[in-house]
Amino acid sequence: MAAQTVATTNDSADTSGTVDLGPASGLSCRECGERFALGPIFACEICFGPLEVAYDLPSGDPETLRKQIESGPANIWRYAPLLPVPADVASKPNLNPGWTQLVQADNLARELGVEPGKLFVKDDSGNPTHSFKDRVVAQALEAARAFGFTTLSCSSTGNLAGAVGAAAARAGFRSCVFIPHDLEQGKVVMAAVYGGELVGIEGNYDDVNRFCSELIGDPAGEGWGFVNVNLRPYYGEGSKTLAYEICEQLGWRIPDQIVIPIASGSQLTKIDKGLQELIKIGLVEDKPYKIFGAQAEGCSPVSVAFKAGHDVVRPQKPDTIAKSLAIGNPADGPYVLDICRRTGGAVEDVTDEQIVDAIKLLARTEGVFTETAGGTTLGVAKKLIESGAIDPCLTTVVINTGDGLKTLDAVAPTTGMSAVIRPNLDSFREAGLA
Ligand SMILES: *Cc1c(COP(=O)(O)O)cnc(C)c1O
Ligand SMILES: [Zn+2]
Repeated sequence: MAAQTVATTNDSADTSGTVDLGPASGLSCRECGERFALGPIFACEICFGPLEVAYDLPSGDPETLRKQIESGPANIWRYAPLLPVPADVASKPNLNPGWTQLVQADNLARELGVEPGKLFVKDDSGNPTHSFKDRVVAQALEAARAFGFTTLSCSSTGNLAGAVGAAAARAGFRSCVFIPHDLEQGKVVMAAVYGGELVGIEGNYDDVNRFCSELIGDPAGEGWGFVNVNLRPYYGEGSKTLAYEICEQLGWRIPDQIVIPIASGSQLTKIDKGLQELIKIGLVEDKPYKIFGAQAEGCSPVSVAFKAGHDVVRPQKPDTIAKSLAIGNPADGPYVLDICRRTGGAVEDVTDEQIVDAIKLLARTEGVFTETAGGTTLGVAKKLIESGAIDPCLTTVVINTGDGLKTLDAVAPTTGMSAVIRPNLDSFREAGLA
């Protein structure tokens, strides 16, 4: 089992009284199905499997729910009836992420040999802190409020630290976040600027995560909500909103193929959960879809397991420019394998060089500047289109999870000015620019 667990409960949180997290009815174990009351717990007491949020999903007329969603706010709270949040969530101080652009990428499609009108980029760099992490943090924040936590924390590969810092600042929480000490300057500055505490750990992400699990079990961590550890079941639900938005933006249709980056694997598994819920409620037609996972070759534990036909994911020591995806021991790795196999998708990886090429390809064709994680995802999409695993005649959505301004180092060495000239026309002509 992949769950990284030291303590399963945090006695310091105030869970007395009723917890109002909207349609969330409890937590259930992904492995054995055991049910637990809503609380800041993340691992099953019986089998140590990961817990996820269980719901009383809306069972009425889907048309009524669709109209309600469509008239809701232009952010993730339009889906509040499907999320573990109180009904009045939109009135509470938070960053209101989501409802990002679904870009119809016709120039990119032409370049990749995909049928016109069939390729889309879901551009989550448009979120408040410029990555998809604002979606998951917004859910964890509501859980932290409900459980009476006063400090927000996380172990982060970079983007999460910034998202937690910003959300805490807006909501009036204290924050203290942990990152590997050697991240890109853009991520460090973005994590620090919101005024919370930012701690660099001498080690990689897996060391940071292990340390946070220890801190939860210690009195020093009392009253702390770690968004991706003891609040992980709630945090994960935020990624469902990517599935909801993509379907709604396609006219309430599930795309045939979705390409998703993998760090811990949470996003990929919860996008699948979101699609299944939409089918169950009747908001979309039940049809087959394929889910594809993307990793960097320098941190490809899930891709290696997929290709070898293994069910277990053997941990790796990451070495890649895609630092936001650099989790060598992904908690949700086995579930990612299940989903990609069940849907007929695949998990693939690309080299650092292919990541840089894909970043430039997306910028050049669509005017979207993605970070190394997005380069990984598009690089994998390109590889799978070329190999025939992705059908160029079917609708494909590639998820861009972050902003290229945070990973300038990746492209700076091979990108720059066309020429430096004196401010006169002769000089302009000499440089061959006329
Ligand atoms: C965190 C992150 C992901 C995916 O993370 P999961 O742990 O797999 O949910 C993808 N892209 C970026 C830019 C991220 O910061
Ligand atoms: Zn269990």
